[in-house]
Amino acid sequence: MRICLPFLSLVVSTAAMAAAPEDAINETRLRADVERMVGFGTRHTLSTQTDPERGIGAARNWAEAEFRKTSAACGGCLDVVLPERMIAGDRVPVPTRLVNVVAIQRGTERPKEVVIVQGHIDSRVSQILDATSDAPGANDDASGVALVMEAARVLSQLKYPATIIYAALSGEEQGLLGGKLLADYAAEQGWTVKAVLNNDIVGGSRGSDGYRDDKHVRVLSEGLRADATDALRAQMRRFGGENDSPSRNIARWIGGLAAEDAKGLAVRQIWRADRMGRGGDQLPFSDKGFPAIRFSVAVEDYEHQHQDLRIENGVKFGDTIDEMDFP
Ligand SMILES: [Zn+2]
Repeated sequence: MRICLPFLSLVVSTAAMAAAPEDAINETRLRADVERMVGFGTRHTLSTQTDPERGIGAARNWAEAEFRKTSAACGGCLDVVLPERMIAGDRVPVPTRLVNVVAIQRGTERPKEVVIVQGHIDSRVSQILDATSDAPGANDDASGVALVMEAARVLSQLKYPATIIYAALSGEEQGLLGGKLLADYAAEQGWTVKAVLNNDIVGGSRGSDGYRDDKHVRVLSEGLRADATDALRAQMRRFGGENDSPSRNIARWIGGLAAEDAKGLAVRQIWRADRMGRGGDQLPFSDKGFPAIRFSVAVEDYEHQHQDLRIENGVKFGDTIDEMDFP
């Protein structure tokens, strides 16, 4: 019996550790994160970067401080890096400094293999260049960044063989610019990107028509590969790979994981790179051939994304916290 005890305690402690993450996800912290981000008034990419209370600069500083707090709680297990570049273009009329806030939890065995968990911290209202009006961006996409922050807090308490990258991206609304920056950064680092898990609009359950679905999460994955060359296309015709892109296989794998978890959301597979006519920060990674998918709420709520805060014919517009579903 005495011989068995160390084995028993090993099993128990392993089981306890394995059970820790999902039970450790804290709704109160998620809500506090979203409230904090909404509190910056606007997080538009072209908003002020120097005001300590308002704008994208203040929001980024908050994200960086949160990562540093999380790192302090795990004995400095996260490296915080701030990749940046100057941007300009259709949706960026004045050259602007773009900065991503990224935390790296190095793998213990294969540190060059990375899984990226990301959301975008920038927000917008009706006019794409309006950088001064209040743009709460609660669901789009403070929800995704809150998820990233909470994932970092919980997963950093454990060790993993491969590396986890936690990223709060900027410039999404101006043309997926933060996604491009991180995809380039990943290539420069020589990382083998095993999966990009993009979380964009992940905190609601009610659609524009009032229909509610709090049982599913949509997982979007591309079929036609963005990186397909003539040779790869020929190969796909020969082997039937048009439904087997790296992104789609990640999506299927996630569907399998979800099916094993009776308490969690079920996956609704959406076999598109993104919603029709829309985009997300998974796309710049797909362009490079990295397996990348997007998580999003089950149903779209158009009155509460990309909208000026207003009431029109009795309908309330705007991406505000009260429209979200934290459980
Ligand atoms: Zn978004």
